[in-house]
Amino acid sequence: MSVKVKSMNFASLLICAVAALFSLGMIFFFGGGDWLVAASSAVMTGFVTYVVSRYIIWRFVLYRIKPIYQLMLERDLSVGELAGHFKGNDIISNAGLDIAEWAGKKAAEIDRLKDMENYRKEFLGNVSHELKTPLFTLQGYVITLLDNGAGDPETNVRYLEKANKNIERLIAIVHDLEEISKLEMKVMNLEREQFDIVALAEETAESFNIQENENKIAIKVAGELPIYVFADRRRIEQVFVNLMSNSIKYGRKGGSTTVKFIDMFDKVMVEITDNGIGISKENLPRVFERFFRADTIRSQENGGTGLGLAIVKHIVEAHGENIVVRSELGKGTTFGFTLKKYL
Ligand code: ADP
Repeated sequence: MSVKVKSMNFASLLICAVAALFSLGMIFFFGGGDWLVAASSAVMTGFVTYVVSRYIIWRFVLYRIKPIYQLMLERDLSVGELAGHFKGNDIISNAGLDIAEWAGKKAAEIDRLKDMENYRKEFLGNVSHELKTPLFTLQGYVITLLDNGAGDPETNVRYLEKANKNIERLIAIVHDLEEISKLEMKVMNLEREQFDIVALAEETAESFNIQENENKIAIKVAGELPIYVFADRRRIEQVFVNLMSNSIKYGRKGGSTTVKFIDMFDKVMVEITDNGIGISKENLPRVFERFFRADTIRSQENGGTGLGLAIVKHIVEAHGENIVVRSELGKGTTFGFTLKKYL
C-alpha cells in the first residue's frame, strides 16, 4: 500500500478516534457516569465518523485528480464518472498506473512526431537538392540561347536538346515524387486482379528489348507455364519496369538480364538477375532508401531519380509481400520479390 493511501486511512482513523474519545467523555460526564452507555455511543460515533471522513477524503481526492483525468481523456468529466472508473479500488495507486500509461503513450507519440519532422526535413532537403542540378543546367542553356545563342545553328539545336533532356529529368523526378508521396501517405488503393505474371514479365521485357540500349543488353524471361497471381497488375508492371531498367542502366556491355519464377507453395518468387556492375556490401543495405545512389554518375547519366527502388519496395510491401536483394560487386545483382498466387 502506498504511503499516501496509508496516510488517508490514518487520517480517517485519527478523526474517528478523536470523535469516539470526545463522545466517550461527553456521554460519561453528562450522561450520569454510565460506562456502558458511554462506550457504546463512542463506538457508534467512531464508526459513523470513520465512514463519513473516508467518504469526504475520497471525494476530496477525486476532485483533486479530476483535472488530470480531464487532461488525459481530453474531455469534461464528472466526479461520479471518475468514481465509477475506480469502482472502490485504491485511487492513488490506480491513478498512478493510469498516469504512467498515459505518459508512456505521449512519449511514444512525441517520438513519432519527432521522426516525422526529421523525415519531412530530410525529404525537403533531398528534393531541393535533386531539383537544383537539372534546373541550373537548364537555366544555363536557356541563358546562352537568349544571349544570341552559341554561334552556329547546330550548336543551338544541341543546346535545345540538352535543355529538353533536363526538362525530361525534372518531369521524371516530379513523377517519382508524386508516386512516392502517394505510397508513403498510404493512399495507394491496390486494384487487385488475377493475371499471368509470366506474361506480364514477357510483355515488359519485350518493350525494353525492342528499344536499342547502349549496352546491348537483352532481357530473357525464363518461364513457360502461366503463373496466375492476385495483385495490382499496373503496379507490378511498374516494379518490372524499374527493376528491368536498372538491370540495363547498371549492366555491362553485351550483358544479359534473366527473369525467373520460383514456386513457393501459395506464393511465387520473381527473380530479376543481371550480370552488371553489382553493388558493394556497404551500399547493399541502403539501395531501397529514397535518393540513395550507389553509382551516382551512371544514375544521373541515365536520368535516374534515386527513387526507383524505394517505389518498388513500397509497391511490394503494399501487397503484404517482401523484396530482397543480393549482389556482388563486378559480378551482378539479383532482386527477388514474392507475390500471392491465384489458386
Ligand atoms: P536510380 O534512379 O538512381 O537508378 P534506384 O532507386 O532505382 O535509383 O536505385 C538506387 C541505386 O541502386 C542506383 O543509383 C544504383 O546505384 C543501385 N542499383 C539499382 N539497381 C542496380 C542494379 N541492377 N545493379 C547495380 N546497381 C543497382
